[in-house]
Amino acid sequence: MARWVFGPVPSRRLGKSLGIDPVRPKTCNWNCVYCQLGRSVPVVCERREYVPAQEILDEVKQALEAAGPGQIDWVTFVASGETTLNSRLGWLIRRVKEITDLPVAVITNGSLLHLAEVREEIARADAVLPSVDAGDEGTYRAINRPHPSCTFADLVDGLSAFRRGFRGRLWVETMLVRGVNDSEPALRAIRDALDRIGPDAVQVNVPTRPPAEAWVRAPLAEDVANAVAMLGAAAEAIPSAHSELELAGSGDIEDLVLGVISRHPMRAAELVPAIVGRAAAAGSPVDAARAHKVLERLKATGRARTVQRQGETFWVAAYGRYGEGGATPTE
Ligand code: SF4
Repeated sequence: MARWVFGPVPSRRLGKSLGIDPVRPKTCNWNCVYCQLGRSVPVVCERREYVPAQEILDEVKQALEAAGPGQIDWVTFVASGETTLNSRLGWLIRRVKEITDLPVAVITNGSLLHLAEVREEIARADAVLPSVDAGDEGTYRAINRPHPSCTFADLVDGLSAFRRGFRGRLWVETMLVRGVNDSEPALRAIRDALDRIGPDAVQVNVPTRPPAEAWVRAPLAEDVANAVAMLGAAAEAIPSAHSELELAGSGDIEDLVLGVISRHPMRAAELVPAIVGRAAAAGSPVDAARAHKVLERLKATGRARTVQRQGETFWVAAYGRYGEGGATPTE
């Protein structure tokens, strides 16, 4: 069973993305209020080989061999935490590029790019997708809740330095949270930071998966449109994903579902058709009721559970720690 490679999963930014997760859940130096994986407990900022790099590479080879033509658009390093915390990331990117011609992306929060070795490691990727959700230290602390050693100045300086030496595509993501970073002053400050960085694109996003904190809300559609206009010519709203989840790869169906929801919490309405499709492809068809039982078994064995957000139910891995109620940004 693959533990560190999952998908391909539909990505709003990268199409069909084969995911490579180089850390254990949830290993992150940020603790974003909107994080779909729940809270980071504890928040860690040490770089080390959280997962053996050779083990990851072996799984990548198997997944690429098993994939049919056109099944994968991007090979994406995307952690259940922060990707660059794995100290062997540079080695992994080099090796993956040796075994496939598919483009390689790195999704990162960008906080460690002030370190020259991290910039050098990820510069071999074809696209790097960092986060800039704030334009000042206070908003950075409010929305990303970083490790005390991470500063807003390091984030912007690191991304600016990376941009100067990086030949690939730099696509910044800005996640908007109502009442936290969607005011005009907050957006002007983000725009100033983006002007210093100079990304190829700014992809404006809103939380669509269960946020760590129950009070998190997406801004209204008209406010998102205003934000896109304020963030400059490179800014665009990320469209909703239309592609359906396919449960690809080897392993039993419960493991495949768990591999996906450990990194991408999903609604039953997304998972059930994928389970039905996988069973049909494997020659042992099941109906929707039987597919629901797969989810219930994951819950009964303590490997997954559900989280309620805004009247919707999401399936998440058991490790996820989600706040219930709690403080709003103004309390
Ligand atoms: S959204 Fe990304 S950077 Fe933020 S806490 Fe979650 S994993 Fe870490």
